[in-house]
Amino acid sequence: MRDVFDLADELGPAKVLHIHVPRVGLKAILVVDNVAAGPSIGGVRMAPDVSLTECARLARAMTLKNAMAGLPHGGGKSVIFADPKMPAAEKEELVRAFAGALRHEVQYIAGPDMGTNEQCMAWVHDEIGRSVGLPRELGGIPLDQLGATGWGLAHAVKAALPFCDLDLKGARVAVQGFGSVGYHAARFLAAEGAVIVGASDSRGTVYREKGLDVAALSQLKSEGRPVTDYRQGEASGPDDIIDVECDIWIPAARPDVITEQNAEHLQTRLVAQGANIPLTSGAEELLHQRGVLALPDFVANAGGVICAAMEYHGATQTAAFDAIAEKLTHNTTQVLKAATEERIPPRAAAVRIARERVRKAMATRRWGGMV
Ligand code: NAD
Repeated sequence: MRDVFDLADELGPAKVLHIHVPRVGLKAILVVDNVAAGPSIGGVRMAPDVSLTECARLARAMTLKNAMAGLPHGGGKSVIFADPKMPAAEKEELVRAFAGALRHEVQYIAGPDMGTNEQCMAWVHDEIGRSVGLPRELGGIPLDQLGATGWGLAHAVKAALPFCDLDLKGARVAVQGFGSVGYHAARFLAAEGAVIVGASDSRGTVYREKGLDVAALSQLKSEGRPVTDYRQGEASGPDDIIDVECDIWIPAARPDVITEQNAEHLQTRLVAQGANIPLTSGAEELLHQRGVLALPDFVANAGGVICAAMEYHGATQTAAFDAIAEKLTHNTTQVLKAATEERIPPRAAAVRIARERVRKAMATRRWGGMV
């Protein structure tokens, strides 16, 4: 196994913690990557099989995402090694023990991630008074229900349109993964005249050249039915969404869905990455060579963490959504301007801008902002 120090560089990680509470069988890790801009925010993942280096990479991704979003927060990530589908009472005991172990780790603010949700964040908050992604009753802003990430993605798309010569009115959109991010992005884009020609979930793809009714699709999903039950569309397998001819392709499902092997199947002008790392770096390079604009995930899908940070600072839902719109528009434009001027892929420009912001924040801190 690679040591976490193999990944270390001038930005971090600042701290790595192994947590063991034998009485409740808790085994967990925390990586605080960088706190120069402020306490780190990052999700608590509950899964049996995440390596320390993967946790460190996810923490770094949060440092860059939070810096790109211009938040007063660094990046961190934690993992509780357990099956997220365990009985609720056992899960509560583990999460509460985990929170207790982090009582003095004030440079880390926990948020929901794969395997944890707002109920888990409520338990963390009850133990140590420090978490984001809380239920509304505790001052939370229900970001998945409201579509914070989809809202941000829609603004990133709008800011990108001039860079790929597109008009939103009549633009054909295909969405892979009709969950929280995919549905809300489709909803916001359709409201401004885009035509949702394709949508998929884990069970299949539905295509309709004249456009799909987003509300009707959402109704199907809320009944637990697949998108392929949509009556007027052509149904096919889940991977067929990749071949749908469109202007804007939105991956909002899983990591690594577009690789060097299938990147040439994409027939689109703009890829707006809602999921985390849906494209391999090789695939992004191939798309760049073909003149397809790929908006990097950590720029385009920051709506959720912006909402969480605004919640932490006591903002209202309206203020949070205004901040998401402003930040995503500004940051997408800045990244694409730099990429265009320097003829480099958008990700290269985004990473450079985010790293530069972290470096500047570190220069203002006595210990470089390390914990
Ligand atoms: P979700 O569980 O609500 O939705 C995921 C959707 O993807 C589901 O409809 C599922 O059926 C579908 N799916 C799964 N496998 C698929 C496949 N092989 N092909 C097509 N569809 C498939 O999850 P979400 O909250 O919408 O998150 C989607 C992605 O975006 C995840 O990668 C997540 O990490 C990332 N993300 C989410 C947020 C957020 O605010 N929720 C923020 C940033 C990034």
